[in-house]
Amino acid sequence: MSQNTGYFSSSIPLNTAKATTTPGVHEADVPLTRPTSLKRVLSGPALKTMLAGGAHSQPKTPSKDDSEFRDYSHSEISRDVATIKNSVVMHLTATFLRTPASIDSAHAYLASAFSVRDRLLQRWNLTNEYHDKIGAKRVYYMSLEFLIGRTFDNALLALGLRQEYSKVLGDVGFCLEDIIDEERDAALGNGGLGRLAACYVDSMACSNYPGWGYGLRYKYGMFQQQILNGYQVEAPDCWLDSPNPWEFPRPDVTYPVKFYGHLVRDPHSEHRFKWESNVVYDAMAFDVPVPGYGTTNVGNIRLWSCKTNTLFDLNKFNSGDYQGATGGQVAAQILTDVLYPNDNTNDGKELRLRQEYLFCSATMQDILARFRKTNRPLSELPDLAAIQLNDTHPTLGVPELMRILIDDEGLSWDEAWDITTRTFAFTNHTILPEAMEKWPVPMLDKILPRHMGIIYDINLFFLQKVEKQFPGDRELLNKISIIEESNPQQVRMAFLACVGSHKVNGVAAIHSDIIKQTIFKDFVRIQGEDKFINKTNGVSPRRWMNECNPDMSDLITEVVGDRSWVNDLTKVKQLEGKLEDVNFRERWWAAKQKNKERLAEYILTTTGIKVSAHALFDIQVKRIHEYKRQLMNIFSVIYRYHLLKQMSPEQREQEVPRVVIFAGKAASGYWVAKQVIKLINSVAEVVNSDEEIGDVLKVVFIPDYSVTAAEVIIPASDISQHISTAGTEASGTSNMKFVLNGGIILGTVDGANIEIGEEIGEEQIFFFGCLAHEVEDFRHYLRFNQPKPDSALQTAFDMIQRNTFGDAQLFQPLIDAIMRGGDVYLLSVDFPSYIEAHKAVEEAYRNHDEWVTKSILSVARMAKFSSDRSIQEYAEEVWNIEPQPVLNCGL
Ligand SMILES: *Cc1c(COP(=O)(O)O)cnc(C)c1O
Repeated sequence: MSQNTGYFSSSIPLNTAKATTTPGVHEADVPLTRPTSLKRVLSGPALKTMLAGGAHSQPKTPSKDDSEFRDYSHSEISRDVATIKNSVVMHLTATFLRTPASIDSAHAYLASAFSVRDRLLQRWNLTNEYHDKIGAKRVYYMSLEFLIGRTFDNALLALGLRQEYSKVLGDVGFCLEDIIDEERDAALGNGGLGRLAACYVDSMACSNYPGWGYGLRYKYGMFQQQILNGYQVEAPDCWLDSPNPWEFPRPDVTYPVKFYGHLVRDPHSEHRFKWESNVVYDAMAFDVPVPGYGTTNVGNIRLWSCKTNTLFDLNKFNSGDYQGATGGQVAAQILTDVLYPNDNTNDGKELRLRQEYLFCSATMQDILARFRKTNRPLSELPDLAAIQLNDTHPTLGVPELMRILIDDEGLSWDEAWDITTRTFAFTNHTILPEAMEKWPVPMLDKILPRHMGIIYDINLFFLQKVEKQFPGDRELLNKISIIEESNPQQVRMAFLACVGSHKVNGVAAIHSDIIKQTIFKDFVRIQGEDKFINKTNGVSPRRWMNECNPDMSDLITEVVGDRSWVNDLTKVKQLEGKLEDVNFRERWWAAKQKNKERLAEYILTTTGIKVSAHALFDIQVKRIHEYKRQLMNIFSVIYRYHLLKQMSPEQREQEVPRVVIFAGKAASGYWVAKQVIKLINSVAEVVNSDEEIGDVLKVVFIPDYSVTAAEVIIPASDISQHISTAGTEASGTSNMKFVLNGGIILGTVDGANIEIGEEIGEEQIFFFGCLAHEVEDFRHYLRFNQPKPDSALQTAFDMIQRNTFGDAQLFQPLIDAIMRGGDVYLLSVDFPSYIEAHKAVEEAYRNHDEWVTKSILSVARMAKFSSDRSIQEYAEEVWNIEPQPVLNCGL
């Protein structure tokens, strides 16, 4: 795999000679007019309806008659190679002004991508027109992050046109794999939470659920991580510098969003206010089509960008003040400029609050605009719209909907509150104290005075109800108040989200139990057990199996008989029938081996380190965070290095060779996490250059972890580590991805690891460490007592302190956090059992046959962890929506 850093990095016209002599692309053969198939599309009957104003003025009464759509689907762009070639060439020449002599791979990618996008947009229209027409209820998944990754390959597989595009590109002298590598990741998210949102919209599209994601279109996505001298260095991710084929700008869908200002009380109503301000930003929509695999349905992520032109001050411009004229534009742009690169932390920055409000206000206005077109009474909003809050970041949607319903629509408080709470549902993602979103009351009051008032009222009515239910329990009122009585007062967003929603869920069974016993304990008592449910996370089999692991996927397809398992993962169960098939087992392992070789190649190009693909690949890739305990991992590597150094060469020969692979970004302000990266790289440098050690141990830190990197790394694992302190990782999703690719987990009894173990059987997973219910006692003990590191951990400390990996001073704070800082993440507690678990892994790996059995059995039993299952549960138990497939158009 080669890493392309930008579109024009490979702009050598390497194929010029070939291209001009390839018959398929010679100018004489290529009509430079629009392909006829597009004309056919434009005469589709549904388009006529649309041109007659149909798309946005649908029949008042929903109709189930879909014959019109059946006709429309027949007019889809032809799928033959000639049509595709025409379309690619059309985009090369007409969209990108290329001649056959000036096609480079960057433009070959762009033209191909635009031609795929044409198809997606056609289906996008069809899907939404259909859902409007039948009056389908939609779910709106509100998330401040969508970690989408690349789209081209995903779309080709979804449309079933990968071979055709491969042929077309081959004819022009390009290899599809290289063209795929031209695409940059859309990294509009940090980690698990953002990737979950991406998997969920994928599942909605593939399962034909009417649903949209809503988010922000950050100009700069997740920073690019470089490793310099072992340290993380952040570089901006200017992902929009080159054209983005996967978004469709919607200047017509723009909403004003107010900030600051003052309130004027409505003389006729107790609760109604007029909010006046001249600080108004415009939020403009960009639609990102989400390809549905094997279905005509295409989903949508609507991303808001802060539009600038209304802030252009013509007076200033005309009077010659060019600088001043654009001052407002700069301020507006900044609102959606940057994704906050924090994961499981909350830094309480005012700009972030304004981002959140811009997002919530534009989204609520858009949802209501769509609803108003139905001409149904507002009391029926919950019958047409379900809104899911992906963590607390979109919680301002609750007071924003209240504000619109009361101040703009004239509803009573009670009516508005009933509609709001029946519409919203809330997913909690963490209970880490540093991640709990709180906003100072003075800040909220200044930026959003009306919303602060509404939040006060929500709290007042809630507390009054509780006071009636539990008279005289002052302490209870204090504990559950949405307003924390600190100095200054703070708004607890998790409580606001909980009170404003009809359902609250955690993301794995253990996590949903924990939140019921901790942060929402009193809410369970007040609002009833039924409101608090579990929805275990899942991941998309399209991206995390079919796309990233083609060889294994082909094998599964062979066993199942067709590729339908990609949309119905229960079918992988059939793999169990192949357990005794020697030939199948060999091919299964050959697929794994090939993935390991692919990763070895990737490691060589990204780090320059040469690793043996025959070693055990031991992988921990995820955001760097103390609770995820990459530090414990590297301590165990140091200890292993120590043991190896003690051995004779003959003894070392007997060891299982191992490559320990890390990747992950640290939040830019998270010093401890960044020191952990430095320690990993320092250990790697020493170990990898130790000739005595050779291939028996290699340590690798792969820079710039991303969805695309994950797609190469994950299919290559023998073992992957998910070793959070019990009770801290809400679910995890990469644990699922690894097992779905035939890797084995070494993990703690935490998050979804537990349910994975239950599904695949405990022989298939290596558990260690203390249990969640023991954590509080250990922490309490360690607050008052020095930890007692076992000899293995002490050995690792000693080696660091003897400057084995460079200046010990650099790493002393990491040791101090354990020895003097109360060892909050319990490394000293879990280390002995961790080392034992490593030994068990090694023994198991030596028995190759048994290992292959574990690998096959694991995949066979992982059906539960498809995000299709998660989405179906949400649809049935939270959103009350149904699949609405646009009729199949001959896929
Ligand atoms: C799946 C995924 C994550 C989440 O990983 P966890 O180990 O569950 O924290 C983070 N980043 C990327 C790029 C992913 O694909």
